[in-house]
Amino acid sequence: MIHYLDNAATTPVRPEAAAAAVEAMTEGWGNPSARYMLGSQAAARLKMWREDIAAGLNCAPEEVAFTSCGTESDNWAILGAVELGRRKGRHIITTAIEHAAVLEPCRALERRGCEVTYLQPGWDGNISPADVEKALRPDTVLVSMMLVNNELGTVLPVAQAARAIRDAGCPALLHCDAVQGFLKVPFTPKELGVDLLSISGHKIHAPKGIGALYIRKGLKLPPMIRGGGQENGLRSGTEPTAQIAAFAAAVRAGRASLAEDLAHMAQLKEYAADRLTQIVPGLRVLTEGGAPHILPITLPGYKSEVVVRFLGDRGICISSGSACHKGKPSHVYGALKLSKREQDGALRVSFSYDTSRADVDALADGLKTAAEQLFVSLS
Ligand code: PLP
Repeated sequence: MIHYLDNAATTPVRPEAAAAAVEAMTEGWGNPSARYMLGSQAAARLKMWREDIAAGLNCAPEEVAFTSCGTESDNWAILGAVELGRRKGRHIITTAIEHAAVLEPCRALERRGCEVTYLQPGWDGNISPADVEKALRPDTVLVSMMLVNNELGTVLPVAQAARAIRDAGCPALLHCDAVQGFLKVPFTPKELGVDLLSISGHKIHAPKGIGALYIRKGLKLPPMIRGGGQENGLRSGTEPTAQIAAFAAAVRAGRASLAEDLAHMAQLKEYAADRLTQIVPGLRVLTEGGAPHILPITLPGYKSEVVVRFLGDRGICISSGSACHKGKPSHVYGALKLSKREQDGALRVSFSYDTSRADVDALADGLKTAAEQLFVSLS
């Protein structure tokens, strides 16, 4: 029996999404660019699927471009926005707690002569809007701020950042990595005031290999992948219709039960925080965060990779917060200034609509046993 509590890493594909993918592969498998009926039928369905994603974002279908994943969406938004603003300046603002999909393109741009300001989080793992305001310069061409942090579940002040940019009369575009926020916290790109926004299918029960970038109407983002001119010339490559069909089905299903699912996750998170701290000696919740699906915890004095393996051997899946990037300490916990013992013991528990109390109970029991047995074996 598997107890899957690592939904911020990826989610199981929901049945509606899997069925939509199979249908697109076995029946509607034409190339949407082809000029005969099989092609025009695929193009018509592609149009509908785009409308489904747009409905999930409450934006126009023309503002949605499909990509292969959240990482591609982030890279495209950042490199494209800086290219677009190259005559206005070369200064970028982002946060020290972004995903590598944002930090790495920023570092690549630094090597090409751009200047990047990395805003540091406070003790609560969040970014102060006042810090965005202070960092803005007349030559700032891009601000990139995530909506929900993937390790802590904190909800960042994206709308306030948009206001600060506007009030400063700054030419900067605003990009938001909403990969962990989509269908987890209510938002629309318009309400947030962003120009570009990234989402990814496999975090919302669609398969891996599909993402999207919201590009505000009127913004002339240069393409990153050039070729046959698909996606209105913005992102070439024959459209992966099966993945797109599944993505659209996952969005439709997710929207249909959104309020219920969010309440379920929030209740589970509260239950897990109480239960884990009650029965596992020394365990501490790192931050309450704002997102309902991520609970960051620490078991100080233990190595999180060892704990994750111990639980994994017993069918319980969570992730280690401290060593998820090729054994290097997480830059997010580093930025939070946790003690080394707290950082080493950091773990992430994450929920979805199909996580149950029984999964949380199994985790609590597993962690209690881990704390006892690993302590003995360490001492
Ligand atoms: N941004 C955030 C906040 C993420 O959590 C992830 C994945 O974990 C990504 C970007 C990358 O998305 P993908 O796995 O679709 O490339």
